Amino acid sequence: MSGAATAGRSGPSARRAAPGRSRARSLYVLRPSAKHGRGAFAAVPIRRGTRVIEYTGERITHAEADARYDDEAMERHHTFLMIVNRRWVLDAAFGGNDARFINHSCEPNCEIVVARGRVFIEAIADIRPGEEITYDYAYEREDEDDAIATSRYPCRCGAVRCRGTILAPRDGPAPSGGG
Ligand SMILES: [Zn+2]
Repeated sequence: MSGAATAGRSGPSARRAAPGRSRARSLYVLRPSAKHGRGAFAAVPIRRGTRVIEYTGERITHAEADARYDDEAMERHHTFLMIVNRRWVLDAAFGGNDARFINHSCEPNCEIVVARGRVFIEAIADIRPGEEITYDYAYEREDEDDAIATSRYPCRCGAVRCRGTILAPRDGPAPSGGG
């Protein structure tokens, strides 16, 4: 160790440690969306395969999430839960970032990618500036009446093939095994 941290002298290294992490140009901007509330819109061309943003939030168990949000009791069926895996759920109501404003679409341009217990929203198509960034929420269905479930979680994404609900398709491929 040679005295790198010289007291009394403000060298370039001290300056570099200053606050304000260099924030690379943001890929998106938040603004009101025709779909729902605020949405995220591409600020620059985003290439397919780009990780647009990480979905952050408090890491809790499924049991804890169930305890926090009781469908039957809730007036508004809108939470910021993101399933990571069988064990963990992220609750973006606590420690969430901009990712929680990204809206659902039945014909999305992004998808969820889970890597090492972290969740990312990744482009599955080239996205033009000004286009709204979306992914398919595909909420887990619980065994309840389809009509009730659909009315509880309606979709108005405007896609030609809108399935009318943000719940996962009933006959969709079940996530099985690996992962
Ligand atoms: Zn839809």
